This record gives sequence, structure tokens and C-alpha cells, in this order.
Amino acid sequence: MKMNINKDEIQSYAIEQLERISGEATKNCYQCGNCTGGCPVSYEMDIAPSKIIRMLQIGKIEAVKAANTMWLCVGCLQCHSRCPKSVSVASVLDALRQATFRSGADHIDVKEIPVSFLKNTPQQAIVCGFRKFVS
Ligand code: SF4
Ligand code: SF4
Repeated sequence: MKMNINKDEIQSYAIEQLERISGEATKNCYQCGNCTGGCPVSYEMDIAPSKIIRMLQIGKIEAVKAANTMWLCVGCLQCHSRCPKSVSVASVLDALRQATFRSGADHIDVKEIPVSFLKNTPQQAIVCGFRKFVS
């Protein structure tokens, strides 16, 4: 896939904000792919963990935000434990969720959750879901 790269995207406020919230420097990643290799849900992700970091290195944060990756991450930290450069993709994905919430966008509309789902799902799972999907 052909992709145009430009300085303004790479040095954008959104990328700077993401690195500040996450505490991670995406430039430290050298694309070994270990994070993706250990991620238990990468097969369902639009963009795999290592590719998320690469996309951010080249400033493609809007494409990263549009992907389902940040919402599918289960926070198992396999990516971080396997990274030879100590980059935590989990922290980057968490920061992406935080940045999304700060912009006023929730991932789910609580009013649209079916009552049958609420009745049949453990309370703890619902609370955890709210923490992850709603600001
Ligand atoms: S394991 Fe670390 S260095 Fe390797 S691709 Fe993932 S983030 Fe980059
Ligand atoms: S923390 Fe998220 S991105 Fe990292 S390995 Fe686990 S599910 Fe995959």
C-alpha cells in the first residue's frame, strides 16, 4: 500500500500528546515484531501491535484511531514483556483510548446495551467494560 509521509503529521500535537500520556517513545521501536507475535488477540485486530507503533512513527495517528486495535487490547502486557526495547504497546493503546475519551467520544452508547445482556453478564465484567469503553 502506497502511503504519503509528511513532517507535519510526524511532529503533530496528537502524536506528542499520545507519547506524553503513554510515557512511551515510539521511536525506540525497531520493528522486530515480538509484540505482535505474543499478542493473544492480534489475529482480530485491524492493525497489529507492531504496526500500530510503525504507523505512529510515520504520523498516521488518524488511521490508528480508526482501527479496532485499541478496543480489542485486553491489557495482558505480553507485548511489553516481549519487547527488547521496553516499549509498552499496551500503554500506547491505553493512551489512544484516553485521547479518544478526552475528545468527547465514547466507544459504546450505554443506552444501547440490551437489558438481556446486562441481566446475564457478571457485574464486574460490566464495570470493567464501562472503564474501558466509556469516558
Ligand atoms: S516488540 Fe518492541 S521493538 Fe519489537 S516491534 Fe514491538 S514495540 Fe517494536
Ligand atoms: S496488552 Fe494488548 S496489545 Fe499487548 S499483547 Fe496484550 S492484548 Fe496484545
